[in-house]
Amino acid sequence: MNYDNALLSEIEKIYLEKRKKAEQPVEILKQALFSNSDYLSAYNGYNATRFEISKAKFMGDDDNLPVLKAKLNDYKLKMQEIRLSLGYDDKTLSPKYECKSCLDTGRTADGVRCKCFKKLVCKLTLEKLGLEKKKLPSFKKAGYKDLNNLQKIYDKMALYCEKFPNTDKNIVIAGNVGTGKSYLAGCIANELISKDFNVIFLSACELNSILLKYHVSPIDEKGAYLDLLTNCDLLVIDDLGSEPIYKNVTEEYLLMIITERMTKSNPFIITTNLEQEQLLDRYGDRTLSRLNDKKKGVFIQIKGEDLRRKKI
Ligand SMILES: [Zn+2]
Repeated sequence: MNYDNALLSEIEKIYLEKRKKAEQPVEILKQALFSNSDYLSAYNGYNATRFEISKAKFMGDDDNLPVLKAKLNDYKLKMQEIRLSLGYDDKTLSPKYECKSCLDTGRTADGVRCKCFKKLVCKLTLEKLGLEKKKLPSFKKAGYKDLNNLQKIYDKMALYCEKFPNTDKNIVIAGNVGTGKSYLAGCIANELISKDFNVIFLSACELNSILLKYHVSPIDEKGAYLDLLTNCDLLVIDDLGSEPIYKNVTEEYLLMIITERMTKSNPFIITTNLEQEQLLDRYGDRTLSRLNDKKKGVFIQIKGEDLRRKKI
């Protein structure tokens, strides 16, 4: 998965805060515990005995080991007894991390990115782009897939999700209003989000507003918008063609984003009601040739009726 550096450093700060929140109360309790002279003396005795055990093992002095181990256990029990008498059980002295899998570090013990990290990436990406979390449809609940001969397409797209991220194929889904394009794109996005991929699903209008913000933002802030849009695992632009055209913005930045994503082999999905000629008129031949690039993508034309008007 791809993450841009600004996002990563922000996430690192969030984890640091989470760890502080979990560890600070325990540190305060520990300080109180160590101000108890009996506890401190048992603690020092415990550590000194551990050292003696290591030394005995190193010197091959096995005869002395049972006595030392018993001594170690005595210190341990003494410490526990004092802790309990002061009202601290072992649980009070363990930090209460929000995530038990990674202890608020973002990585599990075997070094793999934790689920909570991926959730945080998605959440922050949406926040930074000013997008609401969308309720997306799911393959499992797709009710009208047999209408408009969608069954075959759904099966193919389910396979696409299975292969993901081992595919750099872009998908353009074209068809008349209400034929189920957005629904299909939503199902793909939803499926991949459930697998913890960083998916941005937005309407062409929402994208247009982000691009306008990008256009007028100071140069040092520009990168953040573009990085989020080009680095996420999958970008879904729904209903391309429904947005107003802003001069020097819509066409230029759309081309920039899809070109950049293709260079990085980060797939995108676009749904549109527009015909080829209309796409050409609105976005120009360079964008259209990328959308039609068969080596890098699939063009799906959904023919059929407006399913929204059909009772099912
Ligand atoms: Zn975690």
